[in-house]
Amino acid sequence: MQNQTKFKVVEGVLCGAQQLPSPNFNQRPAQTQIRLVVIHNISLPPSQFGGGYIQQFFQNQLDWNAHPYFQTIKGMQVSAHLLILRTGEVLQFVNFNDRAWHAGRSSYLGVPECNDYSIGIELEGSDDLPFESVQYQVLAQVISALQRAYPQIQQHIAGHSDIAPQRKTDPGMHFHWADFRELLHQENHRN
Ligand SMILES: [Zn+2]
Repeated sequence: MQNQTKFKVVEGVLCGAQQLPSPNFNQRPAQTQIRLVVIHNISLPPSQFGGGYIQQFFQNQLDWNAHPYFQTIKGMQVSAHLLILRTGEVLQFVNFNDRAWHAGRSSYLGVPECNDYSIGIELEGSDDLPFESVQYQVLAQVISALQRAYPQIQQHIAGHSDIAPQRKTDPGMHFHWADFRELLHQENHRN
């Protein structure tokens, strides 16, 4: 028996993900084709996992007084389409048809404003620590589903540091691109 694929995109919603709507989105420019996936890492406070602070941050519900670090991000309104927790659980904050606010000033293959045409995926993690193997497995399953739904993505999968190299370092040196691409290849041949 082949594994059944766990994820499917229906009208911009990832079936198999928990839905936690964020107010931090707007419309993509008219006629935009989704054609890039951007991989990030995030942890709040940095390098600490669990606690639900990322979810609260993306939903504009974070108590800025709950930790001194939160003062440094106070009032920021950001989001990603997806967050993959250390457990492999997948959360969706923004419909893929909408424009999430994850990339900031950025450019991919000479085209600026990656938020316009990309899907942003955050891995719960940091530049300083290895990711969990289940996060790689789930990321490959999710991106395989995204590639089926949005064929223009093809192999256009970049790190935040690739599209904003002056400003950003995530997903960082602990993200193993070759291993991830091998898992994605396996996933795509399974389906
Ligand atoms: Zn990032």
